[in-house]
Amino acid sequence: MVRKLIRVRGIVQGVGFRPFVYRLAHTHGLGGYVANSSAGVTIEVEGDAADVETFLGQFREQAPVLSQIDEMSVSDLTLAGDREFRIGHSEDESARFVLVPPDIATCADCERDFSDPANRRYQYPFTNCINCGPRYTIIEDIPYDRLNTTMAVFRMCKACRAEYENPFDRRFHAQPNACPVCGPWLEVWTGHRLAERQTALPRTRELLRHGNIVAIKGLGGFHLACNAEDDDAVRTLRERKRRGDKPFALMARDLAQVERICRVSAAERAALLGPRRPIVILDRRPEARISGPIAPGNNTVGVMLPYTPLHHLLFDYSLNILVMTSGNIREEPIVSRNEEVRPRLGKLADAYLWHNRAIATRVDDSVVRIYAGGQRVVRRSRGYAPQAIDLGTPVPQVLATGAELKNTFCLTKDHHAILSQHIGDLENYETLEFFEETLAHMKRFFRVEPVAVAHDLHPGYLSTRIAERMTNLPRHGVQHHHAHIAACMAENHLRDKVIGVAFDGTGYGTDGQVWGGEFLVCGYRGFERRAHFRYVPMAGGDRAIREPWRMAFAWLRETFGATPPQLPFLEAVPKRSLVVVDTMIERGVQTIGTSSCGRLFDAVAAMIGLRLETNFEGQAAIELECIAAPEVEESYPFQIESMEIDWRPAIERIAMEVKDGEAAGVIAARFHNAVAEAVLDVCRRLRATDHLHRVCLSGGTFQNRRLTERCLQLLSTDGFEVFLHSQVPANDGGISLGQAVIVSNLI
Ligand code: ZN
Ligand code: ZN
Ligand code: FE
Repeated sequence: MVRKLIRVRGIVQGVGFRPFVYRLAHTHGLGGYVANSSAGVTIEVEGDAADVETFLGQFREQAPVLSQIDEMSVSDLTLAGDREFRIGHSEDESARFVLVPPDIATCADCERDFSDPANRRYQYPFTNCINCGPRYTIIEDIPYDRLNTTMAVFRMCKACRAEYENPFDRRFHAQPNACPVCGPWLEVWTGHRLAERQTALPRTRELLRHGNIVAIKGLGGFHLACNAEDDDAVRTLRERKRRGDKPFALMARDLAQVERICRVSAAERAALLGPRRPIVILDRRPEARISGPIAPGNNTVGVMLPYTPLHHLLFDYSLNILVMTSGNIREEPIVSRNEEVRPRLGKLADAYLWHNRAIATRVDDSVVRIYAGGQRVVRRSRGYAPQAIDLGTPVPQVLATGAELKNTFCLTKDHHAILSQHIGDLENYETLEFFEETLAHMKRFFRVEPVAVAHDLHPGYLSTRIAERMTNLPRHGVQHHHAHIAACMAENHLRDKVIGVAFDGTGYGTDGQVWGGEFLVCGYRGFERRAHFRYVPMAGGDRAIREPWRMAFAWLRETFGATPPQLPFLEAVPKRSLVVVDTMIERGVQTIGTSSCGRLFDAVAAMIGLRLETNFEGQAAIELECIAAPEVEESYPFQIESMEIDWRPAIERIAMEVKDGEAAGVIAARFHNAVAEAVLDVCRRLRATDHLHRVCLSGGTFQNRRLTERCLQLLSTDGFEVFLHSQVPANDGGISLGQAVIVSNLI
């Protein structure tokens, strides 16, 4: 006979871990107990030595799908004579650290429950169990018990209580457990209440079928939904949301509906059907009848599958695909409270479908794309947050406030980095409030008290000012592109120096210029900027970002002098504007130099007449990638002098080809190839001088599939070891992770 103490850390709460341990102990006839602690789960087992051995052997193998064991220790205890196995109460070790589970999509068993007319949960939109349902979005404090969630106000009925208390039931300790008798319910409103409870869903389907826009309360906030196959409805939504050409996300009834409009690979299918249920960016079938207004100028479309019972029940035989876009006013955070819907979304929606389960934390949908051999996260939010990223080594507790666009922040503790969900563009008061409320929330959950704060070097960013206000903490400014590369290093557990290729739109440089085509040699403690794109003037600062023709004009002027060739795109620009920009560049007023790769993509997109003005970030570059002809192998020349990459030779060739009427798709392809070849060229030089062969690719430009895959192929063929992002975005949503690891290595 032996008795063992087992401590497990990782994601072991809210994922069915205790019942799993209970059943396993039961199977092997062991006594003892299992209990949640703020540190994870504590188990004591007593019994025959061979049985305990088998128990331990099966422990890791059979652990629940959604659990994640980061650390497990086993030690000997003296016998206590336990015959029975118990599930103990949660002990509070409040200084310790527990991982809060993310929200999980409806499981197949629950789907069966609410689809079965004989089941007591038939058509019930809040069905869940230990394997699925809301978590992060309803948790108000830890430990994760019903009383610490927004479900506390609902008293379980006898039937639900019996499930909750039965260790052999799938709903054993399922904290949000509910049914039509005791749980939350729906209401659908226009000006007045139209329907409630069981009649709300049929009424909503009818509204959607008739072309209405309905604000629908989901897991982490409201969506604005309409029938995606109704062009008028989609167009109305686009106008009301004043969204320009930014693509809308879709929700399809099932996989067959997704495959009707998109090509879906095995990896994409797995992402679509997985428990996180992100929006997956897919190649659209050209013949698909899904309308132009969904994603103008784009040959991809973002699609997700239903992830709550409510979503499943929105569809019927005549509704196949819905537009599901975040319920917010332009650039503001997603709306999550019923009272906010009328004042905030009143002008956007014709009707509201809401319920009385409160959302504790706002969380947007996550976005992923599969390319360059793996899954890449574009927006890390629902289903991912607040899952910790393992750093592989313990670090001090710090806060990193991130960048400005697509902001996230990051807290560290033990060997974990915990990124916030996607906060959004930190450009207004509402987003700032969202940042602060989420920070307070996460500090409480994870019991983190930062000893230092990291921020971007840009003095004008709101994220920098947030850090500056924390006057009691030592502050560290981190260069933007250094943070990009450090984030890539951290998630790949790299500690030694690497070659970092950081390509993006904008990042504040140590010389006060706008960087974005950068080659670094760096570790966590510092970086050297070893090569970069040649500076060109951005005339009018931020206006040059919204008006790519300004970049095209600047590049032409750099290349050809004061009298650049008359390309067709110049005729589409008002003469007066051209004169103004010309004078700005000539005299160097209201201009700033940039080495940005994003701006180079903009320039090429404008030169070929593809896009002269943009209405969302990255639009010109995305469209350039979309039109690039697949089979083209040629590229354009560039020059490298004193480790400055000069694109004038390429611009010269492109100008000539545009004049000769070369196809835009061919030019786009050759340009992508040229950028990849420049990456290879510079990396070879750095390998020769610094004897480094590991390359990290980061920055928003590496969301470009064609460019990333080309770089990966050229570099790996040449013997480089290439590292990409897979857990955090390559865009500025990943910056906070880099800032955090840099600073935690400095203090
Ligand atoms: Zn379930
Ligand atoms: Zn009930
Ligand atoms: Fe960036």
